[in-house]
Amino acid sequence: MLIEQITVTAFQQHTRVVACEETRQAICIDPGDDSEAIVEHIDGLHLSLQAIAITHAHLDHVGGVAALKKLKPEAKVTIHPADEFIYKALPDQPAWIGIPRAQWPALGFNFEEPPKVDEYWTDGQHYTVGKLEFQILHCPGHTPGHVVLFAQKSEKSLLEMFCLRVRSVGLICQEVQRSSCWSRFTTNCCRLAMTLKCIQGTDPLRQLVRSDSRIHS
Ligand SMILES: [Zn+2]
Repeated sequence: MLIEQITVTAFQQHTRVVACEETRQAICIDPGDDSEAIVEHIDGLHLSLQAIAITHAHLDHVGGVAALKKLKPEAKVTIHPADEFIYKALPDQPAWIGIPRAQWPALGFNFEEPPKVDEYWTDGQHYTVGKLEFQILHCPGHTPGHVVLFAQKSEKSLLEMFCLRVRSVGLICQEVQRSSCWSRFTTNCCRLAMTLKCIQGTDPLRQLVRSDSRIHS
């Protein structure tokens, strides 16, 4: 598995190009911005981009989708349906987090309407990129439609992404907790945490419990 990391936006979000070294098939996970730099990585490595794979639809993860889709129109925009309303609201998202409109141009937050979704993730789906295999796990918490691309043969960078999500999962969990998503969140996140515990000194299960107790406090 080939993993290229490009750090984008004022939020320092890590966009990743993940590719099968054998077939050169690739996906771009969460292009928040800097699509030209992402394409430089893709073309420089002679990769074929099959999808723009969105883990969740916050602006730092989808702000670059429109530009990347124009440069790589064959790549399928893929998202969980529960996050589509957030995705479609991209131009308004800076206001959601209280950023004054006058600051949007300087921050690169003057977003255009995002392109239509081509495909949807489903929980438990097996997803292939060349000879790489991932299981798609719907882990609502940070957003209603957040997903994890889980490689059974565990690659460190993907596991790190999961740990980060677990750490930040308290942000809108009260919404999710009230919804039918909660059982899915606890089932999939606990399963991942038990599988992946103690990565780089971080125990995802402990992080999960800590987030959970914050929700209940
Ligand atoms: Zn987010």
